[in-house]
Amino acid sequence: MFRRLMTFDEAKKVISEQLKPEALGEEEISLLEAHDRVLRENVVSVLEIPPFNRSTVDGYAVKAGDTFGAEENQPVTLSVRGVVNVGEPPNISIGKGEAAEIVTGAPIPDGADAVVMVEDTDREDVELRVYRAITKDENVMKKGTDIKKGETALKAGQVLSASEIGVLAALGLTKIKVFTLPIVAVLSTGGEITEPGKELPAGKIYDINAYSLSTAVRESGGKPVYLGVVPDDKAELRKALENALASADLVLTSGGVSVGPRDLTPQIVDSLGKLGVLVSGIAVKPGKPTTIALVGRKPVFSLPGHPTSALLMFHLLARPVIQIMSGRTATEAKTVKALAAARMFSAKGRRTFVMVKLKRNKLAGFVAEPVETGASGAITTLAKADGYVEVPENQQFIDAGEEVDVALLKGAVCTRV
Ligand code: AMP
Ligand code: MG
Repeated sequence: MFRRLMTFDEAKKVISEQLKPEALGEEEISLLEAHDRVLRENVVSVLEIPPFNRSTVDGYAVKAGDTFGAEENQPVTLSVRGVVNVGEPPNISIGKGEAAEIVTGAPIPDGADAVVMVEDTDREDVELRVYRAITKDENVMKKGTDIKKGETALKAGQVLSASEIGVLAALGLTKIKVFTLPIVAVLSTGGEITEPGKELPAGKIYDINAYSLSTAVRESGGKPVYLGVVPDDKAELRKALENALASADLVLTSGGVSVGPRDLTPQIVDSLGKLGVLVSGIAVKPGKPTTIALVGRKPVFSLPGHPTSALLMFHLLARPVIQIMSGRTATEAKTVKALAAARMFSAKGRRTFVMVKLKRNKLAGFVAEPVETGASGAITTLAKADGYVEVPENQQFIDAGEEVDVALLKGAVCTRV
């Protein structure tokens, strides 16, 4: 297999033009299971929401015109005809000079066009004194003002969070059509890798990547399936990868993509079917050996073993593919402006991603401080970092004090001072 480093932009072009990710199928699920899923179809309301004019306060339903001229020291007196409760149609109608006691959420009775708040009244038996003039429709939520019948309440492609699920419930729906979740097989490779929970024999380390990558898959809208650790053995790797391809929509592996004698993943992946390996190393740092293949219609991302490199490459390259397969639009990381706290070098000819911690600086807003990478392979590098700064391949360095864009790896911006 021919190995030529592609530029980062070339690799992204291969992903969009040859992997051509698309949303998968659809399924109907219960509203209570719908969190973070993506709507497959527009949802058109068959109801008016609210379905009737209703009171937004506790008080008295009246004709607004009857309260004109009412003031704190000059109340208007009305006659209370009865009570309107929640959950049932009113059995009274309001005539001139009349009022009905009403609670929040109850239907406005015929004849009334506004609700005076209980705080603006006092009452003796059926005699109600109103101390404030109100206007028509005051304290009334009119039928259909939230959602009209025939209106598109939610659009296909919307990701369902608490508030969207609330809208669906308001429409009386219990089931909803969503895009199916892309199943992402997650495989770790390497004779030194042990699954967490087992005893750690001498010379071995626990599997970090399967866990960090599985979580990142979930964050991207996919369903991770952990297929365990595979030793650096051709036959076992082939079997595991065939299994993964048979059961998943996309395969993520980590480790075994460098140029060592035990780095077998690219050649095995390439032998599994057309088109085979499309990207065989990228001019980036970290993440250079990243390998991307297409087997049948299924993308295979073979990420480096170093946990920081693996997760960063996932974010940059695999995440958008999983987002699209899940029915989402591919999103770029949010960025914040910061001042570089130190000079940041690019690796010669490679696009370099410098992990940084954001600190608040009273004068300058944010300052981006490179995170000590220490021995490469440290997972703590990523855990300490808030994001990364991209140094272009054709630029030697970004100087201390220059303004940079920090792409955030996590949702929230840190506020450490
Ligand atoms: P490799 O790319 O297989 O040469 O691995 C590069 C480095 O990452 C080595 O130090 C491996 O031990 C380490 N590594 C590989 N896979 C994992 C994993 N799943 N979890 C933690 N570290 C790993
Ligand atoms: Mg290895």
